[in-house]
Parts: sequence; structure tokens; C-alpha cells
Amino acid sequence: MRALVFTGPGQMELRDEPLPEPGADEVLVTVEASGICGSELHGFRSVGMRKPPLIMGHEFAGRTPDDTRVVVNPLHTCGRCPACRAGRTPVCRNRQLLGVHRAGGFAEQVAVPAGSLHALPDGLDWTAAALIEPLANAVHAWRLAAPGPAGRAATAEAAATASTAATAGTAGAGGGSGAAVAGAAIAPVTPASAALPSASTVSAASAPPPPQPTGPIAILGAGAIGLVCLLVARHRGATDVVVADPSPQRRAIAEALGAETVADLTSYGPASGFDIVFDAVGVPATRAASLERLAPAGTALWLGLAAAEATVDGNDIVRSEKRVLGSFAYSDADFSEAVALAASVDLDWATPVPMSRAHTTFMELAGGRTDIIKAVLRREED
Ligand SMILES: [Zn+2]
Ligand SMILES: [Zn+2]
Repeated sequence: MRALVFTGPGQMELRDEPLPEPGADEVLVTVEASGICGSELHGFRSVGMRKPPLIMGHEFAGRTPDDTRVVVNPLHTCGRCPACRAGRTPVCRNRQLLGVHRAGGFAEQVAVPAGSLHALPDGLDWTAAALIEPLANAVHAWRLAAPGPAGRAATAEAAATASTAATAGTAGAGGGSGAAVAGAAIAPVTPASAALPSASTVSAASAPPPPQPTGPIAILGAGAIGLVCLLVARHRGATDVVVADPSPQRRAIAEALGAETVADLTSYGPASGFDIVFDAVGVPATRAASLERLAPAGTALWLGLAAAEATVDGNDIVRSEKRVLGSFAYSDADFSEAVALAASVDLDWATPVPMSRAHTTFMELAGGRTDIIKAVLRREED
């Protein structure tokens, strides 16, 4: 099969690879769409978590052997560590990501754990389906930024899912919730008091998360993550959202999705003007700016990973009781919510790229091409 392979620092090759052989409880998925992530454009420059030779790709959707249209939750959690048992699966100590720790979606076929499959909403376009994984990041970030009934319910749901995984002993396969399609891989939820934080949080899982309007929100960066944060904010009822990005083209898309926009990533509104600021860039300047314009007791939510450093005014955090939260990936509940949400938000701003152009496009994006917000590799008929 044809695959885009990370072969060494700064090197990607579009080449023939052997077909993957699915293990026990795994399914061979024919990939229809696979998004190129900013983390991959940085990650391929050196050998870090991703070890060559590796087929990258963690944002993908495709067909199962029985032709079910699915999207794959690429995050696999152990279900046994303290984080998993507390329902905080995104920070599982043994987490593994398809396309990072094992072969992912930049290929014609990929073997995935059956429990990681979610059926796609009817009629959802393949290119849009590849945006469900980024969307799940935004669902999770919003949950952290606006705790309340929705946040508590979701945490309990995640804890219940974790208990299911622990009960079934499915180590290394944390996927599997109500929306997954491979019934054989899904264990029924059985009481497992040892794995649950408390009875009260479990009962909260039955309450659906209500929309949560807030005061003014700012989003720094209108790349794919910034835009999905905007979509979730709007869907939650936020009407006053400012998106900052220097690119006029990206600002135009943010405006079409319901935001006011400004070009300046650090001077994007009044001091003390925002209840929540999402930093979808992740450099020292945006991290500092995410706090500077926050209202007292507001929340700066950091998703960007462009640089490790941050310089912030610690005294301001103390005096104004500001919160700074990191957000990484998603729980199973967040991913399921993103699958459902994909049918009702506008995901029509990604760019489909035929697999034959995968190498060229990847290298152009890594070289700084910015007119494509999200490139999605698409399967071609031979
Ligand atoms: Zn990604
Ligand atoms: Zn774990």
C-alpha cells in the first residue's frame, strides 16, 4: 500500500509499505481522509516521541471491512493508572497515540483497536470527518475552561468509561464508548466501585451537558485548533468571541464562523476584558497576552505547543485570582461529543489533498505555506 513515511529528521517519503496485519481485537480501516497536524510539521524535524520509520497521522476517518463509515479515536489509555481511574484519561501515564507511538493514518490502510472506532454521522463529508479529532480537543478545552454541570457530568462519564476498561482488563485500548461500532470490543458498564471516585459523580453522568453562555471570550490563533475552539464556543452559546490572527485569510474564515477578529495576537482587546482566553498558538508572547487581558478570576486555557517557554506576571495571577490551565487531547466522552457535534457545526474550511500530493504538500506546509489551514490527505481510486 502507499503511505507517507517519516524516514528520518526532516525526511518524509511517499512509498510502498506492507499491508498492516491487525492483531487480536483490531480492525483494518481503509483510510478515506487523514489530516496533517501542526504537531507533525514540527515533529518530523527531529527524532522525539516519533521514531522513524513511522507512518504518522492521528486525525483520520475511513471504512471498516464491512463498509461502516468510522472515525478513529487515536488516543489509547491504560484504564488502570491513577489518572485513568480518576477519569482524567487525557493525562494517562501510559497513553499512546496512533501516528506517534505506532502506525497512523497517512496510509491506505491502518490497523486500529476495535474499541477506538466511532460511527460517523450520516452525510458527513470525509474531509470534515478528519476534523473530528481536532474538534475533540476543543470540546475538552471548553470543558476545562468552563467547569460546572457540564464539566462534572463529563468527568463522571469518563470515569465510568475508565472503569469499564479496567473491569474488562483491556490494557492499552482505552477507546470504546456508546458510539463505538464494534460491539464485540465494548464491555458493558458494570459496577466497579474500586475504579470510581464516588457514587455522586457517577449519578451526574446521566445529565446531558447544557449549553453554557459566558462573557467575552478571546481565541489567540485562527489555525485549525483556534477555529474549532471558536466553533465549540459558538455552539455553547457564546456570542462575544474575538479571534486574533495576523493572517487576513484566516480572519475572514473566523468572521464567517461568527467571531469578531483582530490582527494583533497580543493586543486583541481591552485589559481585563475577557472571561476566557484560549491560546491556540503557544509561544511566550501569546501565553503572556492570554493572561494580560483576562478579567479577574478568568481562565487562560493553553492548547498551543509552539514553544516550551512562558513568561507570565505571577503577581497578577495571585492578585486577580486568574487561572492558567493546560489542555491536552480529550476523554472518550469528549471524543463522542465531537463526533455528534461534527454534524451541526461548519467544518467546511479544510483543504482536501490527493494522496499523490501528500509529500509535496507536507513539505510545503513544513516550509511555512499558510494559505491552507488544514490539509486533509484523501484516498484516490487507482
Ligand atoms: Zn493533531
Ligand atoms: Zn492510564
